[in-house]
Amino acid sequence: METRALIIGGGPAGLMAADALCQADHAPLVVDAMPTLGRKFLMAGKSGLNLTRFGDRDFGAAYGAGAGPVPGLVDAFGPAEVAAWAEDLGIALFTGSTGRVFPKGMKASPLLRAWIRSLEARGAQFRTRWRWTGLQDGFRFDTPDGPCILTPEICILALGGASWRRLGSDGAWVPWLREAGVTVRDFAPANAGLRVAWSDHMDRVLGHPVKGTALTAGGQTHRGEFVISQRGLEGGGIYVVSRAVREGAELHLDLMPDWDLSKIGQRLKKAKGSLPNRLRKGLGLDPARTALLMEFGQPLPDDLAPLIKHLPVRHDGLRPLDEAISSAGGIAWDALDDRLQLRALPGTFACGEMLDWEAPTGGYLLTACLATGRHAGRAAARRLGG
Ligand SMILES: Cc1cc2nc3c(=O)[nH]c(=O)nc-3n(C[C@H](O)[C@H](O)[C@H](O)COP(=O)(O)OP(=O)(O)OC[C@H]3O[C@@H](n4cnc5c(N)ncnc54)[C@H](O)[C@@H]3O)c2cc1C
Repeated sequence: METRALIIGGGPAGLMAADALCQADHAPLVVDAMPTLGRKFLMAGKSGLNLTRFGDRDFGAAYGAGAGPVPGLVDAFGPAEVAAWAEDLGIALFTGSTGRVFPKGMKASPLLRAWIRSLEARGAQFRTRWRWTGLQDGFRFDTPDGPCILTPEICILALGGASWRRLGSDGAWVPWLREAGVTVRDFAPANAGLRVAWSDHMDRVLGHPVKGTALTAGGQTHRGEFVISQRGLEGGGIYVVSRAVREGAELHLDLMPDWDLSKIGQRLKKAKGSLPNRLRKGLGLDPARTALLMEFGQPLPDDLAPLIKHLPVRHDGLRPLDEAISSAGGIAWDALDDRLQLRALPGTFACGEMLDWEAPTGGYLLTACLATGRHAGRAAARRLGG
């Protein structure tokens, strides 16, 4: 099979690169290892597909230090452009109270179907169960019809990060690119839960949400909700501090961020009865927060107020990479030029989560995948003469 423009990886980044190539009349061949395209995108839609976010005054800042050109690229193709693109595909959107943008139906499947139809109508071709296996004499694949080698004029790699491997992105490509002289930073969990070996007394609050707390790590404080799970702490409130924790910061909880130390102290003094009663009646602490105080606060001091405001979270690190929502690490920025072309492999571009950036949940991940996919697709089209 011959093709001038090849995209390996049919997730959101690869499909947006395909979109850009189609717009420049260079309809590509998109191949993916899985039996169907966009599996992680569909999984993202299971809990409500958060496409992007409005109202963030400095959207690009969410990508933090070391995100290379990503802040600039989401400036060029950011929340307004992502929303307009989805609406152009016939998907009605709504914006939640925190600015998060979702399809009205919450799911990813109608958007993915409409997107693939639109790409097919513009000439893109798709092959599934095509697994890229390395770089010898071209791009080698295992396909349902046996091994094959493609030597396109341009190739866009959009292979994803290295979490949730069962959805397709397994990072198998890292050694092949390293051998070819491309610097790739080791993958690490991002937006990940925390491992905690609970004592038995936590059994009664497993599965409970923890609301109304503030989490501080690495000098930053965030309000957020999370869940006490069998294996530790999970959910958005924890994900947002997971980068700082991964980088070695201690994590502290303020169990009552709206009350100051003296108010908590006075209420505790006034309240009568057992300690759990005083915490419940005097402070209104629910069972989940009380259990966390008892678990992490041992041995309990006489004056509990400072501990309630600054409770150290004892944990065994982040949950494994495969369980993380996304991954940090990937192709290093100095391995790419400003067109997202690999310096070591001219004509080969890369985009999406396989690049070395990370971001919190809240639509920042997909927005960057779409923005980098579009940028790589447009640059590849220019190389083809579009
Ligand atoms: C549970 C969950 C919920 C999420 N929710 C959201 C959300 O609401 N909002 C948000 O912004 N982000 C969310 N994300 C993150 C978001 O889905 C990812 O950041 C995004 O899908 C990454 O896009 P990508 O195209 O770079 O990679 P992927 O979507 O991982 O696509 C990569 C593709 O490459 C293919 N591939 C890999 N290796 C090979 C190979 N050797 N040969 C051929 N093909 C290969 C894979 O099969 C896959 O189809 C969520 C993630 C998870 C796990």
